[in-house]
Amino acid sequence: MDRYYTPLKAITVFTLGLLFAGGLGWLLGYPQEFLLLYLAVLVVWNGYYLLKLSHWFWNSKSTSLPQASGIWSDIYDGLYRTQKRHYTRRKKLAALLQRFRQAAESLPDAGLVIDGEGQLIWSNKLAQQYLGLKWPMDKGVKITHLIRSPSFIKYFQQQNFDEAITLYSPTGDKREIELRIMPYVDTQYLILARDVTHIRKLERMRKEFVANVSHELKTPLTVMQGYLELLEEPEGLAPQQQTQALSEVTRQTQRMQAMVEQLLMLSRIESKHQDVPQEPVVLGSTIHNLLSELALVIESEQVHVSAHIDETLTVLGSPERLHAVVHNLLTNAIKYSGEGARIYIEWQAQEGQAHFRIQDTGPGIAPEHLARLTERFYRVAADRNSRSGGTGLGLAIVKHALEAHHSQLHIDSTEGEGSCFSFSLPKINSDCHKSDIQAT
Ligand code: ADP
Repeated sequence: MDRYYTPLKAITVFTLGLLFAGGLGWLLGYPQEFLLLYLAVLVVWNGYYLLKLSHWFWNSKSTSLPQASGIWSDIYDGLYRTQKRHYTRRKKLAALLQRFRQAAESLPDAGLVIDGEGQLIWSNKLAQQYLGLKWPMDKGVKITHLIRSPSFIKYFQQQNFDEAITLYSPTGDKREIELRIMPYVDTQYLILARDVTHIRKLERMRKEFVANVSHELKTPLTVMQGYLELLEEPEGLAPQQQTQALSEVTRQTQRMQAMVEQLLMLSRIESKHQDVPQEPVVLGSTIHNLLSELALVIESEQVHVSAHIDETLTVLGSPERLHAVVHNLLTNAIKYSGEGARIYIEWQAQEGQAHFRIQDTGPGIAPEHLARLTERFYRVAADRNSRSGGTGLGLAIVKHALEAHHSQLHIDSTEGEGSCFSFSLPKINSDCHKSDIQAT
């Protein structure tokens, strides 16, 4: 049962003792002596337990209190309870702190706490990774000594933290970090830092994209405007020149139309990256159909096309995207190879995969262009001024369409010898029924 110390209880015990000693003394004829003796015993007894308590406080390593009797047992008991309460509270606080630390570690952002002087108090693991901090060595070091970028030092000294600041990671790994400083308890500050490399890259790509589209549309529009101004005064133009102007306007319109269609296709391919249909695609038939559709162009460009196709070779994927891949690679080969060139198309099973290859004996591509060919709007400089009508979007479409199928475009080209574009996809059947085609 719980016992409690109360002043009333202490006074009652003391008074009863006093009455007992006084009464006994009175009976035996020594009331004063007995009262004095009682008081002396009380002083010694209290002194003993006080000393015992003091010894426990200062010298004992044990957490449990020593044994006591009488009123001291209640006092010891009370002390024990207070100690137990503090211990439980400390344990709860430690658990809370641990939970806070775990939460701070699982934050997707880097977090640091600094004091009013700018000295580091705490940081999570991500902060150590993003900002190259060494923990616990950097504890107490000024933040401006840890992040030495001049723009950050200026920002920190201005003490205006309404806007975030973006800087390159001090680790030198080209990571772009956005830092935000917020006042924290009393005179402390919480610094949150996040990796914005990807976001900034996307922003730059978006700006470049808008600039490219505007530029690509502006060129044909300027050409068309020039011709239309000339056509406004037809008497100034010979009939032959008029026909020439009209055909140029038509050509530029077709170019713009092709570009808009390719842009729409690219946006469709990119936006539906997640849900690529998994339909069986017999790519051999697609190649046959494309060759028939392009027969007139093949003839006018005077190129020789041959193909070695496994007509039963089937893959899983999106018929629309795979059609776009083959269409762009084939039209490029026809467009860029030049008169008299030979184009060879192969669609065969190879090492358990369905393998596509289109090889031409055209002019080839200089090595410095190869890495950038699949970038949007990238064209080999010579083609920019030529009449090929290209937009620089074809190979970007091919790249994204293949990526949606977890495949990759391989480009192999030697200047003066020709180019080879290839990719592989997982095949879903192995029955082979092959056909060889010759087209001129
Ligand atoms: P475009 O619409 O201009 O054809 P692409 O993205 O399809 O754009 O191609 C990018 C560049 O790659 C073209 O400008 C061209 O210089 C080069 N290229 C593509 N295919 C071939 C090829 N078979 N032979 C030579 N150059 C090629």
